[in-house]
Amino acid sequence: VTFADFNLNDNLLGVLEQLGYQKPFNIQEKTLPASLAGRDVIGKAVTGSGKTLAFTIPILQKLSERPRQPSHGRTQSPQAIVISPTRELCLQLYRSIAELGPDVRCVAVYGGASIQRQISQMRSGVDVICATPGRLNDLLERGCIDLKEVCYLCLDEADELLTPNFKDQIEDVLRDCPHDKQMMLFSATMPPNIQAITRKYMKDPVYIDI
Ligand code: AMP
Repeated sequence: VTFADFNLNDNLLGVLEQLGYQKPFNIQEKTLPASLAGRDVIGKAVTGSGKTLAFTIPILQKLSERPRQPSHGRTQSPQAIVISPTRELCLQLYRSIAELGPDVRCVAVYGGASIQRQISQMRSGVDVICATPGRLNDLLERGCIDLKEVCYLCLDEADELLTPNFKDQIEDVLRDCPHDKQMMLFSATMPPNIQAITRKYMKDPVYIDI
């Protein structure tokens, strides 16, 4: 199996090839058919398994099939949101998406950095937001982001993300996203609190354990 077997658009295939990705890793080979078909996906996978491409490829493929949202001035309407627990991971995901989709408008929003700067980075419009939970909620409360155009939501390192201090913030986001969005959740472990979230918010998810 190669990435060319997945009906990806030519831009995306070209970038994957340029970056030296030819054959999908196990997690990618197993999740891509479902995620590219629009299914909700749960992946039990650790760092280093290649889970980043497993959710960034379908995001970029899906965005390429949709019209881009115009800038709405102060309030932006991203189509994809990737939530991760730490600023390091958030920035790493941002870099991966920017590398894979050079034409996609991606902004990283995380705590401990100037919120005004992040707001101004979004001002000309944004397709994908890589976020940590606290800063995302802050921007939602300020009315700088709304969730009404979200068609793709990914929770990375969900076991770190759904700790008691983040859980309410994540659930606020999950409740406010459109019901027909596609959702992906990746986690190294599947404790009961994660299973509860998947049952409550995911639609007939495909479960891949590698
Ligand atoms: P991740 O688990 O997403 O952090 O990926 C771990 C490492 O594997 C990263 O350095 C990726 O660039 C690399 N990688 C992911 N998928 C592939 C692939 N299909 N072929 C070669 N390298 C890959």
